[in-house]
Amino acid sequence: MKKERVVIIGSGPSGLSAALYTARAQLKPLVIAGPQLGGQVALTHEIENYPGYLHLGGAELVDKMKEHAEHFGARIEFDLVTEVDFSQGSPFTVKTMSETYSADTVIVTIGADPRKLGVPGEAEYTGTGVSYCGTCDGFFFRDKEIVVVGGGDSAIEEALFLTRFASKVEIIHRRDALRAGAALQKRAFSNEKISFIWDTQVKEIHADDKGIVNGITLWNKKTDETTTKPTEGVFIFIGHDPNSPIFGDQLALNDAGYIISDERYRTSVDGVFAAGEIQDEIWRQVATSSGQGVSAAMSTIHWLEEHEDELQPLDETPAPVGD
Ligand code: NAP
Repeated sequence: MKKERVVIIGSGPSGLSAALYTARAQLKPLVIAGPQLGGQVALTHEIENYPGYLHLGGAELVDKMKEHAEHFGARIEFDLVTEVDFSQGSPFTVKTMSETYSADTVIVTIGADPRKLGVPGEAEYTGTGVSYCGTCDGFFFRDKEIVVVGGGDSAIEEALFLTRFASKVEIIHRRDALRAGAALQKRAFSNEKISFIWDTQVKEIHADDKGIVNGITLWNKKTDETTTKPTEGVFIFIGHDPNSPIFGDQLALNDAGYIISDERYRTSVDGVFAAGEIQDEIWRQVATSSGQGVSAAMSTIHWLEEHEDELQPLDETPAPVGD
């Protein structure tokens, strides 16, 4: 079993920011990155709202964050965590596909994924007309007629944003009342480009022979009527699912499955911290996730200082790093 001072699970902006701060504290953190660096952000075409950068690709940002953290001694492993055991307190056991680690502290930054409809065509045409991010993809739908699926704050906020580009935005909701807050509802109802299709579910997404989305099949649950509708874009905002199943019996989660953390990003287990979308179901921004990663790292550093006398030596003393 490999012994580590800090294991960071996840390599999005929160994980890589936590890696930078713990690396600068000479802790030589190990980042278990998952199959690809950056999670959702790496798939974002362009980011315009990360302070200091007017234009930045998502993949470029996480590459820079990785390079920055590695410069100060962070180690990145492209591996998947399969199991954790926090039940005995620190040191914790973290198992991956290829290794088992004993970690004095753990920072969980494993994120959340957009919830899927699970209908035919959705997975096949993601990127060619199906999208989960208006900010990322709205620009490609200039003067096109599109649909938005969902009735919560995200769906309405994104539908409003998409009216900047699309000529028409139809919101398809499975009930006849929105879940979104009153202020957003008011703006949507008064927007001339937005209309609503109530009590309706998307059953299938269709594409032309090049795989470009050109229509959907709808089912009205009140009339039991099935219809088809031409559209060039299907934006799906029906919530997020936190990637928390492996922590379910180890950490306290809220009803929606997000890890419960306090203002210092401490979880229900002393020595385990959480940052980014795995514990934040509201803000979900690169900048907020990054800041949360920094805060969780600082809490981790303080925790290790407080427990200095109890820590077992590492097999390999972290090499001092320059700055
Ligand atoms: P949400 O509040 O859970 O809403 C999800 C919406 O998708 C609901 O209308 C739900 O329908 C619908 N839905 C869920 N599963 C579906 C399915 N399989 N098929 C069709 N429709 C489905 O999620 P969210 O909008 O992403 O918001 C998440 C949290 O972030 C909320 O707390 C929200 O307030 C917050 N947020 C706030 C803001 C803001 O304040 N500006 C912006 C974005 C998000 P039902 O209504 O029938 O359940």
